[in-house]
Amino acid sequence: MATRSASSSPAAARADAAERSRVSTDRANDGRRGWRRRERAILAAGRALIADGLVIGTVGNVSARHGSELRITPTRRPYETMRRRDLVRVDSDSGAPLTADARPSRELPLHLAVYRARPDVAAVIHTHSVYATAWSFLDAPLEPALEDLDYFGIGPVRTAAPAPPGSDELARNVSQALGGSNAVLLGHHGVLTTGGSVDEALVAARVVEHQARIAWLVRAPAVGGPR
Ligand SMILES: [Zn+2]
Repeated sequence: MATRSASSSPAAARADAAERSRVSTDRANDGRRGWRRRERAILAAGRALIADGLVIGTVGNVSARHGSELRITPTRRPYETMRRRDLVRVDSDSGAPLTADARPSRELPLHLAVYRARPDVAAVIHTHSVYATAWSFLDAPLEPALEDLDYFGIGPVRTAAPAPPGSDELARNVSQALGGSNAVLLGHHGVLTTGGSVDEALVAARVVEHQARIAWLVRAPAVGGPR
């Protein structure tokens, strides 16, 4: 209690105010540093998607959330030349871009719906990777579910009902089908993965594509074979 009465003096009040200001400056610096790291991870993931053949050209999108903001890749901008300043800042509650003349990916509603449904998710990646996208036309869960999906904490990969790209209907269908998993197929369209970091979401995108290749190989003997 002694400190409480001491802080009632003008000098102590000034010291308290200075301390509060220092703490809030530290938090702001931490926030800036944290975003710099996340933005670099988004750019690196974009380049990895191209290098791994998970997307072609400017297709697909990557975002990260921290606090009440998110960053998402812009529309129609090549990953190879994308810079931190090209990433679009978005208020994750309202969904409004915080940057003037921002042109976020048209799948922003999809990313927002996933973040709203899943407070544990800090990153979202959407691709059209070949084998997984082909499987999305079967309107069936990705089977067989190999141990990789558990090992990487991804869980079952269901397929969301098809809906037009960029639509609220797609956002709704996908966030529902995702449930508590870290990956979902978008019916007749592609793949969405999530994670506690951009790197985790990227690993999930790679694992789902790997899993889908195996799924097609397992299925192959039945195609055109005896019925
Ligand atoms: Zn797409």
